[in-house]
Amino acid sequence: MVISVASGKGGTGKTLVATSWALALSSNAKVQLLDCDVEEPNAHIFLHLQVDQSQPVSIAVPKVDETKCTYCGKCAEVCVYNAIAVVQTKVLIFAQLCHGCGACSYLCPESAITEESREIGVLERGHCGNVELIQGKLTIGEPMAPPIIREVKKHVDPTRTVIIDVPPGTSCPVVEAVKGTDFCLLVTEPTPFGLNDLSLAVEVVQKLQIPCGVIINRVGVGDDRVERYCVEEKIPVLLKIPLDREIAILYSKGIPLIEGMPQWRDAFLTLLQDIEQIVSASQVVK
Ligand code: SF4
Ligand code: SF4
Repeated sequence: MVISVASGKGGTGKTLVATSWALALSSNAKVQLLDCDVEEPNAHIFLHLQVDQSQPVSIAVPKVDETKCTYCGKCAEVCVYNAIAVVQTKVLIFAQLCHGCGACSYLCPESAITEESREIGVLERGHCGNVELIQGKLTIGEPMAPPIIREVKKHVDPTRTVIIDVPPGTSCPVVEAVKGTDFCLLVTEPTPFGLNDLSLAVEVVQKLQIPCGVIINRVGVGDDRVERYCVEEKIPVLLKIPLDREIAILYSKGIPLIEGMPQWRDAFLTLLQDIEQIVSASQVVK
């Protein structure tokens, strides 16, 4: 089973959940944790990752042979990302905007476009006991997270429980990380901001037709509007984590919750059982 752990905004405790959950499950089986929060992967801090494999991630960007080019402008017309422009007798390529889709080289009538590879980040692998951590790291200043996320997700091992740490927000990188997963766990906090961002995240997940559930973190900090929203939308609240000084201290020191407070282990084990039931019930409905 592949489960994405997402949040409509940063700082809700998504990585605290993903890492403790992976560690709890790893006492019984081998688990994969894929850190797709590629702009700021930090699961490795909690897992004290020793990287034993690292490889560059590149995308193919166009290169124009001006001796063949007739400056017809077709390439600029087909590029929906505005990554290529033809100005009189010059073809300008804005490599950082290029998604490497290949449309311009495919449609150039003069076959004047070839592709060259451009490195945008790295993929790293390592282990922490029974947890295999695979993380993508986008090079600082690069705007294109989805290609690295796709590269990380290529390593999903369907024979294991796989937890995907999704980037915060609701934009393209989130969709890339969540799509294709069996379940999405949304971590939120009981505040008006938390509710707003949760409802946006729920919209995305529902559009992707992925069943979801909620973890409310820092219970006690706000009000009950998140819980009421979940009841109205028929979204199960699977776990509540209280606002607790000890948890906050563990987090600030990079210590996983279940390492510092082992009494949470059972709650994380039950979480998987609950999700398995929801997923199999949703498959029956389909
Ligand atoms: S489509 Fe090909 S020939 Fe036309 S401007 Fe672009 S590179 Fe040049
Ligand atoms: S490869 Fe795709 S995104 Fe990049 S310049 Fe060509 S058409 Fe645009």
